[in-house]
Amino acid sequence: MTIADNKTTICALCTPPGLGSVSIVRISGDNALTISEKIFSKKLKKPRYFYYGQFLNGKTMIDEGLCVFFNKPHSFTGEDVIEYHLHGGKQVSTEILKILENKGAVIASPGEFSYRAYMNGKIDLLKAEAISDIINSDSQASLSNSIMNYSGNFNKKFNNIKDLSIELLAEIESRVDFPEEDIPLIENKKIYNLFDKIELKLKSIIQSYDKGVVLKNGLRVLILGPPNAGKSTMFNSFLENEKAIVSNEPGTTRDTLEYSILYNGLKLIFLDTAGIRSTTNKIEKIGIDKALKEVEFADLVLLINDISIKDNKIIENNIKSILKKLKKVPRGTIILVNNKIDLIDEKNLKEKLDFLKSFASNEKVQSINISALDSNNSNEVMNKIVSGFSNIAESNPESVMTNERQKNLTTNALEALYKAKELYTRKVPLEIVSIDIRSLLNIMSEITGEISNNDIYDVIFAKFCIGK
Ligand code: GDP
Repeated sequence: MTIADNKTTICALCTPPGLGSVSIVRISGDNALTISEKIFSKKLKKPRYFYYGQFLNGKTMIDEGLCVFFNKPHSFTGEDVIEYHLHGGKQVSTEILKILENKGAVIASPGEFSYRAYMNGKIDLLKAEAISDIINSDSQASLSNSIMNYSGNFNKKFNNIKDLSIELLAEIESRVDFPEEDIPLIENKKIYNLFDKIELKLKSIIQSYDKGVVLKNGLRVLILGPPNAGKSTMFNSFLENEKAIVSNEPGTTRDTLEYSILYNGLKLIFLDTAGIRSTTNKIEKIGIDKALKEVEFADLVLLINDISIKDNKIIENNIKSILKKLKKVPRGTIILVNNKIDLIDEKNLKEKLDFLKSFASNEKVQSINISALDSNNSNEVMNKIVSGFSNIAESNPESVMTNERQKNLTTNALEALYKAKELYTRKVPLEIVSIDIRSLLNIMSEITGEISNNDIYDVIFAKFCIGK
């Protein structure tokens, strides 16, 4: 797909296809009005007014409904835009789009309306990406962050960094003709101060990305443990649904099951996995490999452990062999869930918990004692899961970065800054130092889209749905 051509008049269905009470078809481009006049029965005399009339194919009425005209540049795309508010369902909009095509409009590619809005200066790239995030939000926390980004939160941050970088560049370039040794100490201090300020701001944006990814994609909670520990029981209890087979026969779960729920505004994705043990069964082995592959992508691991097993040595081996495989949990968070406490008496329980303390003694491994059969316990575990991430679901005055393109460019900007600082400290000629500061400035402009990079547009806007 390529959306490089801005001259055509485009049209698309903006509402989701399928059954619904209203469908909206949008037309954008120089010929929007002339094309539309051939279809809609009323003259659209005043912009931004709804007109009630008939949608016609020649003399045949296709539908009756509302039509509104947004004159250029006062529209989303910055071009003449017309919207038809039709009856819902598939047929009406399909026929209307066919007629529009016959009259000279072209069906829009995904994201083409937003692309035009960007090309016509109505939105910057950050805003375009935030629109896509708003549409794809599936939790309250993710939506409120996307809305903040849409209203220009990051734009302000990047512009601030840009202003500081321009100040730094000016400080440096104004001294290009002076020998380095002659720069007074006080000015040197000012320059380092600017380097540090920019570094701090770039770093804080990059750090916010980890949080942003969880906000956008949800928190991936991997349930691991030996067979029969109660993993599937726990999984079902989180989902309040019998999604996984629960049985006292070891090795029943062989594939990885994945379901998500919303909890305290945050999306939690639970993965139930095959029990980890040494086995000669080929299919079970594949299941175990699959489970361990998920470790890399998990934000948190629940290590389910059957505390009712009499022999402590077996419990120890179970936990140790799995902990060994968990070196790659990205956030390093593991919760040891001591399950089946209902099966042992108080004295025994105390003795077992004392024994297990050594496994949860470092900050990477926390623990909780439960009986998965008691459904109240799943809330307790979920509270523990989100407690480490509660700052993510809170609505902050500061929004976080959720976009990989922006994060990579910000990282490049920080590298350019480091390089400039290092050259400055080494007293390299200032015109060379300024090259990296200029490159930092260029990256800032690339992030917001002021510097055009045609190659990335198709990639960015193709992620949008049709009609946006
Ligand atoms: P998985 O193999 O780890 O997925 O374990 P399951 O969830 O299939 O459970 C294995 C057996 O342990 C089943 O018979 C469950 O009913 C039982 N079970 C799971 N959790 C508990 C618990 O907390 N207490 C008791 N008494 N039984 C449990």
